[in-house]
Amino acid sequence: ARWNPEQGWHDAELVPYGPLLLDPATVGLHYGQVVFEGLKAFRSHTGEVAVFRPDAHAERMRASARRLMMPEPPEELFLAAVDALVAQDQEWIPDDPGMSLYLRPILFASERTLALRPAREYRFLLVAFITEGYFGPAQRPVRVWVTDEYSRAAAGGTGAAKCAGNYAGSLLAQEEAQRKGCDQVVWLDPVERNWVEEMGGMNLFFVYEAGGSARLVTPPLTGSLLPGVTRDALLRLAPTLGVPVSEAPLSLEQWRADCASGAITEVFACGTAARISPVNEVSTKDGSWTIGAGAPAEGGVAAGEVTGRLSAALFGIQRGELPDSHSWMRPVSPA
Ligand code: PMP
Repeated sequence: ARWNPEQGWHDAELVPYGPLLLDPATVGLHYGQVVFEGLKAFRSHTGEVAVFRPDAHAERMRASARRLMMPEPPEELFLAAVDALVAQDQEWIPDDPGMSLYLRPILFASERTLALRPAREYRFLLVAFITEGYFGPAQRPVRVWVTDEYSRAAAGGTGAAKCAGNYAGSLLAQEEAQRKGCDQVVWLDPVERNWVEEMGGMNLFFVYEAGGSARLVTPPLTGSLLPGVTRDALLRLAPTLGVPVSEAPLSLEQWRADCASGAITEVFACGTAARISPVNEVSTKDGSWTIGAGAPAEGGVAAGEVTGRLSAALFGIQRGELPDSHSWMRPVSPA
């Protein structure tokens, strides 16, 4: 669909996947007025296809658009695009629990000008790809590198928006993580470089256990981390499984100390693409530590008990094996 001030949103159409023709002076290419989303459609064991929380992704895209001075795509437009594409493409989703249809909505400034002001023309596109989880079909434990040199977001910046520039700025730190033998970078808060915020494409949860009962802690939405839809789902789901949750700041030192004392028994990262991935090793410039069982069993998923339980509950809902008591799934019939 296209947007301009005279017509608002117009010309929505479903067309075969293919290249775009862009003017070299397209605003989005120069000044980064580009926001996007990532959501998934799953095939249930009975064959029906449903999309996980498209309304929440529509809302986050609207919030991202506001932050970048872009017109908000109405929820109806967002959902109509999801419905049309998933109806069309769902035959490609294999009947394999690890696979899903990843949907990538993108909104960008398409006006041809070099003027540095909010653009006056925009395009909203939705494309789809068949995917597995980030770290392969069986979620293997992840080693993380805590960067103390780079920040993902600035105070007052765009950290809470899902905008393209946030990802461009994080690539160098991600490369550093890989050089240190890690899979992912962990970001600290941009002001004190003390509080644990999130990972490259995932939010973080810490499992505390004492006296046989577990609780979860996740960093609060400070404005410099992305409000993950999976994070939000787990905040609602965990208490129904008897696992209380709190949104509370955790410093890097405390993370290390609580692992050493055994108070933290599991850590996991969550996101649409990454699903739920146990974190088993943390490296910082001052040394490394392991969490829980440490290295994974050969080929297996070494998720801890609480991580495994949450993961089973979430994927049970997504795969239609458990009741959708939160009304998170939007069923889509084939075209
Ligand atoms: N943080 C960042 C930086 C991300 O890119 C993502 C993926 N969108 C997440 C967290 C997790 O968000 P969600 O659960 O909505 O996929």
